[in-house]
Amino acid sequence: MTLDKKARRRSDGDGSGGLTPQRRAVLRVVRESDGHLTAAEIFAAAQKLLPKISYATVYNSLRYLKEAGLLGEITFGNAASRYDRETARHDHAVCTACGKLLDFDLAETLGLMKLAARRSRFKPASIHLTLVGLCPDCSDQPAASRGSGVRRKR
Ligand code: ZN
Ligand code: MN
Repeated sequence: MTLDKKARRRSDGDGSGGLTPQRRAVLRVVRESDGHLTAAEIFAAAQKLLPKISYATVYNSLRYLKEAGLLGEITFGNAASRYDRETARHDHAVCTACGKLLDFDLAETLGLMKLAARRSRFKPASIHLTLVGLCPDCSDQPAASRGSGVRRKR
């Protein structure tokens, strides 16, 4: 999620100038979604803009856009990465029943980073907090009617 010098030099306006049509389409899909899409979901949406776009192109575009600092990537162990239009530091809450992924921000996270750095003796660059649990919708439902595991959902 760091904006490297190259990207900063390259960026003009919203940062999409100079991108190939494919990369621009992928960026548009991520920016127009208010959620956190997987590569497969982005591919499906990008095909509506560019019917001939391939999955490999979408995947490579996501990697490029992430390295250019134009979008964020969130990874959870072995689960599929999710892509985030918000590139500024923020935290996430993920629902273990329906897979819903929400943004939140805690001022305390930066203090936590200092503590974590002291404890680990790492030089801190960033911190990302993930709250794992049940979203309000899922915690209102009895366990039997809930899905199991993290499913696709925005
Ligand atoms: Zn849920
Ligand atoms: Mn987010």
